[in-house]
Amino acid sequence: MKPGERPGQEAIASKGWIGAHRYLILRRLSQLGILALFMAGPWLGYWIVKGNLASSLTLDTLPLTDPLVALQMLFAGHLPEAAALTGVFIVLVFYLLVGGRVYCSWVCPINIVTDTAEWLRMRLNIKSGAQLSEKARYWLLGAILVVSAISGSIAWELINPVSMVYRGLIFGMGLAWGVVAAVFLLDLFVGRRAWCGHLCPVGAFYGLLGEGAVLRVAAVKREECDDCMDCFAVCPEHQVIKPALKGADKGLGPIIASGHCTNCGRCIDVCTRDVFTFTTRFSHPATVPAAVNNERDAPRRSQPEITKAERQSAG
Ligand code: SF4
Ligand code: SF4
Repeated sequence: MKPGERPGQEAIASKGWIGAHRYLILRRLSQLGILALFMAGPWLGYWIVKGNLASSLTLDTLPLTDPLVALQMLFAGHLPEAAALTGVFIVLVFYLLVGGRVYCSWVCPINIVTDTAEWLRMRLNIKSGAQLSEKARYWLLGAILVVSAISGSIAWELINPVSMVYRGLIFGMGLAWGVVAAVFLLDLFVGRRAWCGHLCPVGAFYGLLGEGAVLRVAAVKREECDDCMDCFAVCPEHQVIKPALKGADKGLGPIIASGHCTNCGRCIDVCTRDVFTFTTRFSHPATVPAAVNNERDAPRRSQPEITKAERQSAG
């Protein structure tokens, strides 16, 4: 990224706009397609999928249940019925294969809102950045389980922005507009990637699930990296990149080991040198010693802080 350029401009020049947005286009098609499948019933009367992201039945046959909803149910003292448990199993296997936070980047409609806020933040050059702790999402995750246990209900689903959007689209947006606007404004003005990267307990849960996932992004051609920093600038969880890209001398990478990688593919899109690619965790002898786990999820810095100084030191 040259001074004054936005991340990805070099990639657009060399690969063309579509080539530099391949995975972004596919993700939007996936997010909107899934939303359309759920809405086809209540809006048009085509009941391909019944339910919502928390619990659904596809073609009256395939049950799918959000494992976090089932966990809250257990904490609330209710045992999910057999079909729901089957749905949990199917969803767990799926995300253990493709990466837990694929839910965030390929399924969750709130991701469109937060990506838009980040896009606008970059264009308006908004630099404000509240120092939210990334650990906050784990505290919130713990809190929603405790509240479920105390209240005997799946309390988070009443205020979960993802569920509110789905309910809002069926019954009228009403309060859901307010929640969507709050998430948007939070990410725009309060802190970069404040909601999905720091607060959302659903993202935290799927991040934990993703630790063991098979599908991975890897910096397979990291020796080709020219330190343009475009991948760091577009990554929603950019703290996950450095060990894979720059950790050769410590025996790290080239596979991105953190469960917080959303497998969104943006780093693949914007890299003119094709450093990154999708692969599996078995394809490269990635080693992540426990001693460097803290660095693997090192505290993130705001985009303006990813500076020339880091480019020099990272090399
Ligand atoms: S972190 Fe939460 S809101 Fe953001 S994309 Fe993931 S599930 Fe959706
Ligand atoms: S490392 Fe790449 S695939 Fe993973 S979250 Fe960042 S940009 Fe997306």
